[in-house]
Amino acid sequence: MSIPGHFDPVPVPREVTPRADGRVDLIGLSRTQIAALFLDAGLDAKAAKLRAKQVFHWLYHRGVTGFDAMTDIAKTMRPWLAERFVIGRPEVVEAQVSNDGTRKWLLRTADNHDFEMVFIPDATRGTLCVSSQVGCTLNCRFCHTGTMRLVRNLTPGEIVGQVMLARDVLGEWPRGSMAAPDFDDAEDDEGTDYTPDGRLLTNIVMMGMGEPLYNFDHVRDALKVVMDGDGLALSKRRITLSTSGVVPMMARAGEEIGVNLAVSLHAVTKDVRDEIVPINRKYGIEELLQACADYPGASNARRITFEYVMLKDKNDRDSDAHELVRLLRQYGLPAKVNLIPFNPWPGAPYECSTPERIKRFAEIVFNAGISAPVRTPRGRDIDAACGQLKTAAERKSRAEVDRLLEEKQAALG
Ligand code: SAH
Ligand code: SF4
Repeated sequence: MSIPGHFDPVPVPREVTPRADGRVDLIGLSRTQIAALFLDAGLDAKAAKLRAKQVFHWLYHRGVTGFDAMTDIAKTMRPWLAERFVIGRPEVVEAQVSNDGTRKWLLRTADNHDFEMVFIPDATRGTLCVSSQVGCTLNCRFCHTGTMRLVRNLTPGEIVGQVMLARDVLGEWPRGSMAAPDFDDAEDDEGTDYTPDGRLLTNIVMMGMGEPLYNFDHVRDALKVVMDGDGLALSKRRITLSTSGVVPMMARAGEEIGVNLAVSLHAVTKDVRDEIVPINRKYGIEELLQACADYPGASNARRITFEYVMLKDKNDRDSDAHELVRLLRQYGLPAKVNLIPFNPWPGAPYECSTPERIKRFAEIVFNAGISAPVRTPRGRDIDAACGQLKTAAERKSRAEVDRLLEEKQAALG
């Protein structure tokens, strides 16, 4: 029997998507990479390093989209930068707002591939769900993205660009002017009147399209910029990476990125997990749970989240809940179980478990002392399940999409 999907990472060596005008998009690059570009373009080593530090701050901490706004960079230098570099954002193909406040975007890369991003606000936090690939090589049977072929990995710029775009839309870049720091003192950022504002976007989950651990280097580089105190400055405690179980990459994710881990477990027996999460045929449940037990940084204060999609008559029996508890105990895991009502899509081979079944399942896990919240479905009126907007948009004609976009822009004023 052939195994659906291919289980090995698809190498996509490209770091930056090339642009027709030959300029280089700086978004996604580290200080060192920016300094190297400046050096190549003719600055001396000291100037390249200083300018890279200033530009990094303006790009990621202040969110400016033009070099003219970089007030501590000499006026004569700004056109020099603009001739060679750009500050990009993913193109917005479609933007939707649900009546529950969930926002969803269909975005497009410079080489015309569409991918998705979702923002989910609630009372205490605002979570941005970020994509790591266009499509996915794995074919989890309940996942709509799994029905698409992998087009390519997203670059670090396209991953960080999602967070930057969300901050643009939510109006969350720091306001206030910044006094020009002393040019000769690259370390001196004191003496500015910059104040971080209270933000809507407080958390990031790598739970959009794609398997982040099959695009490890780009996801790591992007998240480093997101976590950098002089970059987007989001704490690693507010970032969660979700994997379907790419066991060989989990230790590196802990060591080199260090964010919270979520694991798409979804089943507790080999037969069922083989069927619904086919990567299980390569890395089985025991191996996966051992990798979780070894995950650097996991503790009771930083528990691993186990995602469990509730599929009617497939993985939702009392005995499945008891087995889940037993497994988590056997591996001594500091765990939290996130029960996800299945979000159906046209042609899906499963149904969602009944509310009573989900409640009973949650009770069994909770009574064993493991937190087991049921995720509230959000944005159902805008097809907020992963992969659905992309397909819905492909069904619409280009003209219709353009018309919708114009309406949205008009509505936004
Ligand atoms: N590839 C990674 C991250 C992206 S999927 C992973 O699989 O973990 C993010 C989460 O959404 C996963 O737990 C996935 O199983 C879940 N998911 C995908 N499609 C779903 C659907 N139709 N209903 C409910 N959850 C879904
Ligand atoms: Fe890929 Fe995750 Fe969907 Fe599985 S659930 S097909 S790994 S995006």
